[in-house]
Amino acid sequence: MLELRGIRKRYGGGSDGASPATEVLRGISLRIEAGEFVAIVGSSGSGKSTLMHLLGCLDRPSEGSYLICGQDVAGFDADQLAWLRREAFGFVFQGYHLIATETARENVEVPAIYAGQPTAARQARAEALLTQLGLAGRSGHRPGQLSGGQQQRVSIARALMNGGRIILADEPTGALDSRSGAEVMTLLSGLAAAGHTVILITHDRGIAAQARRVIEIRDGLVISDSASARHAAPEAADANPPAQGANDAAQLL
Ligand code: ADP
Ligand code: MG
Repeated sequence: MLELRGIRKRYGGGSDGASPATEVLRGISLRIEAGEFVAIVGSSGSGKSTLMHLLGCLDRPSEGSYLICGQDVAGFDADQLAWLRREAFGFVFQGYHLIATETARENVEVPAIYAGQPTAARQARAEALLTQLGLAGRSGHRPGQLSGGQQQRVSIARALMNGGRIILADEPTGALDSRSGAEVMTLLSGLAAAGHTVILITHDRGIAAQARRVIEIRDGLVISDSASARHAAPEAADANPPAQGANDAAQLL
């Protein structure tokens, strides 16, 4: 479903010569299928967050192509990219990124406001998601009134608000004690079992080992992939021509 081909990402090196170019991703090729639970593991600075930003269409590669359901993201217009970020991807971050002045339910509702969902429907869905994530009775709490593990569960509910077919989680357990971290991992695993594609980014090998597939990156290159035998795409697989014509991103997923 997601395919990276020879992805490179450079920062700096502008024509003014003010900053030297650094190549953070140096040729990443991999495929992730629908419903996979994948960990991308690597030490700090190895390029994990950069890779997540590319996967989530928050940034564009310097070189190489990124295909979603066989269609090159480079051909998507601003509306299609916005749709993908809003409706297809659900983002979870180490620091939760919740709005401190809003309640848990209001935080969960945010993506649906951008999607234009009517108030009553989005309130009901937010409540249902919070209940599903074990936060019944906490929906009126502000982030400061919740534990770290509870705040991360609110952020997971927010990631699911518009569907969250693809969950991108960047160090989601990084700020949590081991018990809350284990709860978050159980939730992510459950989402994958329910058909979501879950991509977990971590520097922690113990956390990564809980995913069904582990991809290790170092210095901007994939150095191992536990599914390499299964996923080493024969060249023939790459010959599938992408669908012709104008692509409606909303029909992709
Ligand atoms: P990780 O998430 O694995 O710790 P990152 O992807 O955040 O790694 O960063 C990889 C490297 O890219 C680091 O050396 C970092 O300093 C550099 N980097 C990341 N973002 C930028 C940016 N916007 N401009 C310049 N350098 C960056
Ligand atoms: Mg990072």
